Amino acid sequence: MIGTSADVSNYIEKEKRYLLETYTRLPVVFVKGEGLYLWDSDGRRYLDFTAGLGVVGLGHNHPVVERAVKEQVGQLVHASNLFYTPGQIDLAEVLSRETGGGRCFFANSGAEANEAAIKLARKYGGEVLGGDRYEIITAKNSFHGRTLGALAATGQPEKHRYFGPLPEGFRQVTLNDMAELERTVSGHTCAVMLETVQGEGGVYACEQAYLSAVQRLCRARGLLLILDEVQTGMGRSGALFSYQRYGVEPDVITLAKGLGNGFPIGALIARGSAGDVFSAGDHGSTFGGGPIACASALATLETLISPGFLDTCRRLGRYFEGELKRLKGRTKSIAEVRGLGLMLGVELKTPVARDVVVALLEGGIIVNNVGPKILRFLPPLVVGEEEVDTVVSALEEALHSSAGVA
Ligand SMILES: *Cc1c(COP(=O)(O)O)cnc(C)c1O
Repeated sequence: MIGTSADVSNYIEKEKRYLLETYTRLPVVFVKGEGLYLWDSDGRRYLDFTAGLGVVGLGHNHPVVERAVKEQVGQLVHASNLFYTPGQIDLAEVLSRETGGGRCFFANSGAEANEAAIKLARKYGGEVLGGDRYEIITAKNSFHGRTLGALAATGQPEKHRYFGPLPEGFRQVTLNDMAELERTVSGHTCAVMLETVQGEGGVYACEQAYLSAVQRLCRARGLLLILDEVQTGMGRSGALFSYQRYGVEPDVITLAKGLGNGFPIGALIARGSAGDVFSAGDHGSTFGGGPIACASALATLETLISPGFLDTCRRLGRYFEGELKRLKGRTKSIAEVRGLGLMLGVELKTPVARDVVVALLEGGIIVNNVGPKILRFLPPLVVGEEEVDTVVSALEEALHSSAGVA
């Protein structure tokens, strides 16, 4: 049984006393990671199909990232953005090349990258479009972060409770409903901001026709198309950025989660004329683009774009999705299998997702649920068919026992 050893109970009890209550944690204390696996304080091994919530795309403690960071720690940890540091510029150069000429701003998290995007869109609205153009249209059910601007952008009203007044100027529309978006664009709109696949919201993807139509609308009305690729970026979709799978050309992209393979770094990438909006003094960050974070991200990025890497991710994504769909065919408890690349969701017919998560954890497999009915799978991008098979058969067993039916 998990969560029963003295060591674990000790940490659980202290956490209650010393930390603010912001997380619902499962009773496991992790002390070591390598590749697809984590080890708890009792020496038990777990197959991590959350990749630390979409963060360690290359797996835990990837040797290339570890080497780059160790080297950088020995050289320089921090100098500040009053000066130039090589890693930040090298990283920006690669990101620029991979996004067809974008220009970067570095932050420390997804929320911060989105805050930068919101500020950029507002300045674009006021200065480029002219007039009262500050409104950003986002999607219902979206997730853009916990800071006030990103929270206002987030289309989940239950997360807004207690924290008003939030910044004004955000309107939410139903994803994949083009008519509603067209109705919502007004003389105040400056940008549309979407996730190509909603992550925290339940693994709901933009339809191809919708995203293409959104891009056409943005072009026609001069609006910025901002894609929050904090979760879908860095290979998760089977392409380096998910917009490449959709064949659209966003003006602004935000990244974080998988960017540093575990080291905190976020990025805003502005393409085309969006890259000329900010001037010196408009935005900044003390830690943003620091040497350690940039060394980790550069090593991660170079691994992701190495020949064949993303082809394998795409193949494994198809394999995993196919196996989940076959499982759906064999059981009565799955309502839908959906997602893109190695970002997959399984919607159950009954609200037992948390029970399934706990049952799998007891069996040494880490998955995550978003809401009471939806299981989310974000395995490291280096996953193989064998581990997919392990997880799918454990899931089948867990569904039998947790749902009571199958
Ligand atoms: C996780 C996430 C964020 C927030 O990232 P933080 O690093 O937690 O601030 C923003 N957008 C999306 C799509 C995310 O998945």
